[in-house]
Amino acid sequence: MPDQWGHWRALHEAAVRQFELYGYGELQTPIIEETRLFVKGTGESTEIVEKQMYCLDTGEGQSIALRPEGTPPAVRAYLERNLHKQHPFQKFWYAGPMFRRERPQKGRLRQFHQIGVEAIGSVSPLLDAETLLLATDIYREAGLKQWRVCLNSIGCERCRPGYREELRRRLSTRREELCEDCRRRLKRNVLRVLDCKMEDCRAVVAELPEVSDYLCNECREHHGAVKRVLTEHDVQYEEDSRLVRGLDYYTRTVYEIKHPALGARDTICGGGRYDGLVEELGGPPTPCVGFAMGVEASLLAMEADLGPATDSGGPPAVFIVSFEEAARERCFDLLEALRAAGVPADMDFEGRSAKAQMRLANRVGSAYCFLIGERELSAGQVLIRQMAGGEQWTVPWQEAPREAARLLRGDP
Ligand code: ATP
Ligand code: MG
Repeated sequence: MPDQWGHWRALHEAAVRQFELYGYGELQTPIIEETRLFVKGTGESTEIVEKQMYCLDTGEGQSIALRPEGTPPAVRAYLERNLHKQHPFQKFWYAGPMFRRERPQKGRLRQFHQIGVEAIGSVSPLLDAETLLLATDIYREAGLKQWRVCLNSIGCERCRPGYREELRRRLSTRREELCEDCRRRLKRNVLRVLDCKMEDCRAVVAELPEVSDYLCNECREHHGAVKRVLTEHDVQYEEDSRLVRGLDYYTRTVYEIKHPALGARDTICGGGRYDGLVEELGGPPTPCVGFAMGVEASLLAMEADLGPATDSGGPPAVFIVSFEEAARERCFDLLEALRAAGVPADMDFEGRSAKAQMRLANRVGSAYCFLIGERELSAGQVLIRQMAGGEQWTVPWQEAPREAARLLRGDP
């Protein structure tokens, strides 16, 4: 509803401004994709593909899905346009609805929205840091006050299997203590056990070795560089050795931005590096890094820091009040002239009495009323009334739009 979009708009405006500053170009992909894009890209053993996708059989032997996330579509678009051959390094941003089968609750919806970026084609740790700096700059510009950044490295295809094996070995002896989901994860996606929210699982996880002890030299160096750059640029982060992301394609850097107002599921933005995805989708080896902000989650955070949702725009600065029913069309001409001069303006369209029009002007919060009666019409004038102080003065009809623009600017 119109009175709920203020924070939404502030977040998107901040994001677009920062994307321009950081050199990310807008990408829009279709809401519907072939299901197999996500099965391959997001990963067969992920929660999203296993239980959260809305799929539809087209009746022509094809399955299509409402996109549950934006990254595989971005990579598909990148490959289909042959960018890997022409301009392999690309920085994209996107914003739009995503769909997942989840139990709707506060901040969790089946149609929700994400704002995200993908930097495709570079292994530089500077970019891991850049995406995080970008995300925090967006939140800062949107007015968010309290957040924390959690950071981890989950290694690469060379060092992660060793860690995975060790987890599996240790966890299989304690299978009985794990929740049902984690027993399944044990086989299919053992890293995900690390961030299970169930208390019993957490107790088991606390005794597991940390991934940092298993990183290969390259991953260790990469992680060190990311942390160095973040520190140099005043991003405070917490190292969280249990942080993993839900999707299969992450490598090395993973991070989350969390907000205290959100309770147990407190992530408002998740991101990291995904060096294996482009290849998985049929392209050449191409390292990438990106993030996805949960818009609804971010809005809850903004409400906590900035107060309740607000109107997206301001009230009409000028409200035209017509004392002569017959003068409505001339009032409408004036209304259009005001808008052409860049002055937000409105009038009554319901044939209200002059008194009721004044009340309406008050209710919508206009700063000025333009009063048009018989006298004003015959003299070619407009009576301006400042709503706050009640001060009134007249200006020639032709001058009125310019006068209103001047008043809005606050010029003397
Ligand atoms: P989570 O463990 O929070 O479900 P995820 O791994 O599924 O995270 P991502 O796909 O990385 O999350 O999404 C990034 C962000 O998008 C999440 O941190 C969350 O804020 C938001 N998000 C994800 N699913 C939903 C949903 N169903 N409704 C609203 N927001 C969502
Ligand atoms: Mg999820």
